[in-house]
Amino acid sequence: TAAPPRRPIRELPDELVSQIAAGEVVERPASVVRELVDNALDAGATQVTVRLVAGGIRAIVVEDDGCGIPPEELPLALRRHATSKIRTLEELEGVSTMGFRGEALAAIASVSETAIVSRPADAAHAQRLDARSGELAPAARAQGTSIEVRELFFSTPARRKFLKSEATELAHAVEAVRRHALARPDVGFAVWHEGKLVEQWKRGSHEQRFADILGEDFLAQSRAMDVQAGPMRLIGRVGLPEAARARADQQFCYVNGRFVRDKLVQHALRSAYEDVLHGQRQPVYVLFIDIDPTRVDVNVHPTKIEVRFRDSGEVYAAVRRAVTQALAAPGGAAPIVAAP
Ligand code: ADP
Ligand code: MG
Repeated sequence: TAAPPRRPIRELPDELVSQIAAGEVVERPASVVRELVDNALDAGATQVTVRLVAGGIRAIVVEDDGCGIPPEELPLALRRHATSKIRTLEELEGVSTMGFRGEALAAIASVSETAIVSRPADAAHAQRLDARSGELAPAARAQGTSIEVRELFFSTPARRKFLKSEATELAHAVEAVRRHALARPDVGFAVWHEGKLVEQWKRGSHEQRFADILGEDFLAQSRAMDVQAGPMRLIGRVGLPEAARARADQQFCYVNGRFVRDKLVQHALRSAYEDVLHGQRQPVYVLFIDIDPTRVDVNVHPTKIEVRFRDSGEVYAAVRRAVTQALAAPGGAAPIVAAP
């Protein structure tokens, strides 16, 4: 059997490039929710509302009261590698916003029917941009932005087939908001599904948000932690053994406000719990690692769920020590200091 005849090298069309990139960023409705809530928080929102239809498969709408996008920049928001968040390599290395790749909206729009409705503070009204047609039209809304994402993967049926049931997709989408909400008690969140309020977290203290999300019992069954360790500040709450669960589903770790799943940090925590937690029980914890942004690389993974520390040994030791000390501290739960 002869090899197929060679075909000439061609540059791929923009749309296809975005669809390929979307494969890395957009796995399911929850990935869209995470990206859109990231954007809302980067825009300085104090209230974020997520509305879903069919677990997010038919529609995801994320509304915020942030800074908005001027009408002349609306088409740019949908362009690949277009961002307002960084301009130089230096800024990338010190980035403190959730986003910086300028890829999410382009990727999402390439695998759905997307529209942006936005109104900056100084605008007389909102403008709505339909991504597919490019049509721009006046619209009504208060200051802020709504991004509407409909019929996810409608043009890529192979990807759509990988989606699970609506209930499962909904659960993942709610979990994505929960992760943001735990880190940002200064922002109110609401999640609606088909007209019903599924979750609502009102603005308040860290303590209140922990109680709202992890249960009132968690405050009594955990120890607060707030330590400076070299270039790091470790803030959070670690659950006592009686708060442990059968599943590792209440473990939240953030690096500079971004939810991450980091093997090194997980290992440091496991090791800190070794002496107090026996058997297969899984600890409950919320850990915020605030570290000089130049000491951590967040540009490792398209979804930014993984990070790379410049000195991982230092992070490991600091987390292990802080958690061990917090668990061993006598007395009840100390009050937690607000994250900066
Ligand atoms: P990134 O977040 O990496 O910059 P995105 O594709 O997510 O890339 O967004 C592109 C740009 O669109 C952002 O840099 C921002 O300027 C603008 N934008 C997106 N969502 C919002 C929002 N909710 N409020 C204000 N501006 C937004
Ligand atoms: Mg973004």
